[in-house]
Amino acid sequence: MKLYLIPTPIGNLEDITLRALRILKEVDIILAEDTRTSSKLLRHYEIDKKVLAHHQFNEHKTTENLVRQISEGTKMALISDAGTPGISDPGFLLTRACIKAGIEVECLPGPTAFVPALVNSGLPCDRFQFEGFLPHKKGRQTRLKELAKQPYTFILYESPFRLVKSLEQLAEYLGAERLACVSRELSKIYEENRRGTLAELAQWYKAHPPKGEIVLVVAGANGTVQEVPDYEENDDE
Ligand code: SAM
Repeated sequence: MKLYLIPTPIGNLEDITLRALRILKEVDIILAEDTRTSSKLLRHYEIDKKVLAHHQFNEHKTTENLVRQISEGTKMALISDAGTPGISDPGFLLTRACIKAGIEVECLPGPTAFVPALVNSGLPCDRFQFEGFLPHKKGRQTRLKELAKQPYTFILYESPFRLVKSLEQLAEYLGAERLACVSRELSKIYEENRRGTLAELAQWYKAHPPKGEIVLVVAGANGTVQEVPDYEENDDE
């Protein structure tokens, strides 16, 4: 009795592990956020399995039934359109319900957009905060005020249509000189990692409207100079 959560490529089809492919071939049912999107990946790797839709609009209704099927012995794997299920994607509800029902849950290590973006940014990554998407309307100001005080590097998922607005608002709340990095189209042909201050990035993308998928990494309020961790020191001793 087990639910597998399987990370899938965020752009480059080669970014999938051998174990992910093996498990996708072994399960009885693959739960996919968008069956049409996932069918391209599955066809590419010649995986011919029953695929059921599992997304934010049906997960509340289907979770109970899925948990029952897994506990009766059906082998299931959950994938999302891209990256790791549960990371700004469906996965949490089913994971929680399986754990509650005593079903083992295993998320395979694999692609997710925020890790390469964080590392590429060159901003401190010894401690960081994942913020996902900023609220569009309600709660946006409150979140921006909180982020202004946030001491560590933080990560936002962003749409190309809202990038300039977000950069301008972040510059307003956090200060124009705060360092940041825009990672666009990670792992794809036109991957771009553009580093600069919030003001510089806002100006650049205003003049060059971005396309594609975007992760925005912003330095924390603690400063933008990389602290070299002292691995010799151990506070617990
Ligand atoms: N589950 C995914 C993960 O593990 O990263 C995230 C899914 S979320 C619905 C989609 C967002 O992830 C996009 O709007 C973008 O912010 C980010 N993203 C996904 N693929 C990306 C890529 N190749 N380059 C940059 N950002 C990407």
